[in-house]
Amino acid sequence: MNTKCLNFTCPLCKVEYEIFLKEIPYLMFMDCPHCHEHLSCFEGQIRIAKEELLAEIKTAKSYSDVKTTILKYDNIDKKHSIDLSDKSISYDDVINLKIDLQLCETVEDVLKVINGNNKK
Ligand SMILES: [Zn+2]
Repeated sequence: MNTKCLNFTCPLCKVEYEIFLKEIPYLMFMDCPHCHEHLSCFEGQIRIAKEELLAEIKTAKSYSDVKTTILKYDNIDKKHSIDLSDKSISYDDVINLKIDLQLCETVEDVLKVINGNNKK
């Protein structure tokens, strides 16, 4: 099974992770399994996703709105870019993975994820 491997380091606790995806979405949100910080991955860069950012993205109507919002909150250092590589995936890799992952391919998907999270 050929997948994309996304390597990243949590900007907060510095723990390193690898997650395997069929496709890398342009935007996704996840929680760091170690420190539980909300993280966003946008165009290959990992950032801490603040509540304010999530609230503003809710009002985004287009891709450029999302990008503008992300960049506005881009106060996190930019050194945490990720490496993308194709890798074979093993069963152990899968069962070790406990990241609560939301994949978003469109702005509508992003809004669904955010709205869903707020209802919890
Ligand atoms: Zn962390």
